[in-house]
Amino acid sequence: MSIKSTSETNNFIDDNEIWSNIEKAKNCDNKEILDILKKAEEAKGLTQYETAALLMVKDKELTQEIFKLAKRIKEKIYGNRIVIFVPLYISNECGNICEYCAFRADNKELKRKTLSFEEIKQEVAVVEKQGHKRILAVYGESPKYDVNWMVKGIEAIYETKTDPSGEIRRVNVNAAPMSTEDFKILKSSQIGTYQCFQETYHKKTYEKVHISGKKKDYLYRLNALHRAQDAGIDDVAMGVLYGLFDPYYETLAMLKHCEELEAKYGVGPHTISFPRLEPALGSYMSEHPPYLVDDDLFRKIVAVIRLAVPYTGMILSTRESAELRHELIHLGVSQVSAGSKTSPGSYHESLTNIPDEQQFTIGDERNLDEVIYDLSQMNFVPSFCTSCYRLGRHGDHFMDMAKNLHIKNFCQPNAILTFSEYLEDYASPKTKQAGYEMVKRLLTEINSEDLRKTVTEEVSQIKNGKRDIFH
Ligand code: SAM
Ligand code: SF4
Repeated sequence: MSIKSTSETNNFIDDNEIWSNIEKAKNCDNKEILDILKKAEEAKGLTQYETAALLMVKDKELTQEIFKLAKRIKEKIYGNRIVIFVPLYISNECGNICEYCAFRADNKELKRKTLSFEEIKQEVAVVEKQGHKRILAVYGESPKYDVNWMVKGIEAIYETKTDPSGEIRRVNVNAAPMSTEDFKILKSSQIGTYQCFQETYHKKTYEKVHISGKKKDYLYRLNALHRAQDAGIDDVAMGVLYGLFDPYYETLAMLKHCEELEAKYGVGPHTISFPRLEPALGSYMSEHPPYLVDDDLFRKIVAVIRLAVPYTGMILSTRESAELRHELIHLGVSQVSAGSKTSPGSYHESLTNIPDEQQFTIGDERNLDEVIYDLSQMNFVPSFCTSCYRLGRHGDHFMDMAKNLHIKNFCQPNAILTFSEYLEDYASPKTKQAGYEMVKRLLTEINSEDLRKTVTEEVSQIKNGKRDIFH
């Protein structure tokens, strides 16, 4: 019998602590809320109690204050750049039965597909030709493939190059938890971030909705990011699947997870995602979430997470509609996916999602160019930057720079440069025109004269054919 290590069994979620903070927060008055907002302005993060109190704010004016502050804090740390990525579904084969997911093993209606390395390359070529530079590779959990096979697939992604400047410069991975040894193998494929959502931190609910399969082991999943860190993957990403359990509990528990990683490894999560349950083929639960999170509460959750963990990247996926993404992007979001398809092979096979192969319904079906145009109209700079990861600025090094407010000195020039590359090689005429007007303005806004001159010269070089310039 194998003995499990603490990185498989450590339970740092304290139910009593979370519920008592939620109870206490119910009595928080408006004056105290204003004090919490004053503290949040310092961008030092929030306690569980303060987070719960802000989540429960009902007053309309105070809610607007929370939203405005979330936007200010994000801009203070990261500037107005929004990083763009695209998910690449490699396999929808899965041995688990998760009640909310179309990929679950007992879903007979779903057509199963695992991409071959050749098919991976075909898919990558399609998204490269749209202008993408960052991929999130997504996998089910199947005995049909192991980490060595995943590594070969990731190599196939990096190897795929297309004209005029198509290449993937960062592959992040969303896959089932593995052992520390397997994480070491995964790291060897030069991944950026390892992402794993706890789905629900509430153990009883977790065990109920994960009906069978390896994923049923709550503690093995709870400690996945610890094992990834132990294996040297220092950019890890977390998330809750909102809709499964009480959203206040989940947000506080996720905060505890951040604190736990920070205390143990000196760095919290690189990014946080906040997926909401979306309708999935054959899943009754996905259409009838046990704890429905309405748009009003969801907006507040996004903004309050920005205040609670100010330095963490926040990812908004295409699960949400274009209209809501329009609003949420102002509340502290720093990364968005665009042009996503959630069935393996669908970038190559068709221009629409294939309903009986996809994981869940997409809310925002706009293509990359439309998203980019829209962002530029909202004065956000779309960024395809992968510089930090390639120059070794990750883990605590990255977070220290974010905390010292240095990161945006890199983010803004790199956003301008990668955006210019996109405008040259992939943008529609309308986006190109609007984009270059924006670039012109952004260049004048760079405070340091030396840096302004350098970046202006680099944009000219890009217009003359030079590629992949970064700081
Ligand atoms: N199999 C791996 C796992 O479970 O961690 C990774 C892939 S899974 C396809 C990625 C994420 O999709 C899950 O962690 C879950 O949060 C999310 N997901 C599953 N079903 C969903 C649904 N119906 N609506 C929204 N998100 C969903
Ligand atoms: Fe499989 Fe992940 Fe879907 Fe669960 S959420 S059924 S583990 S793909």
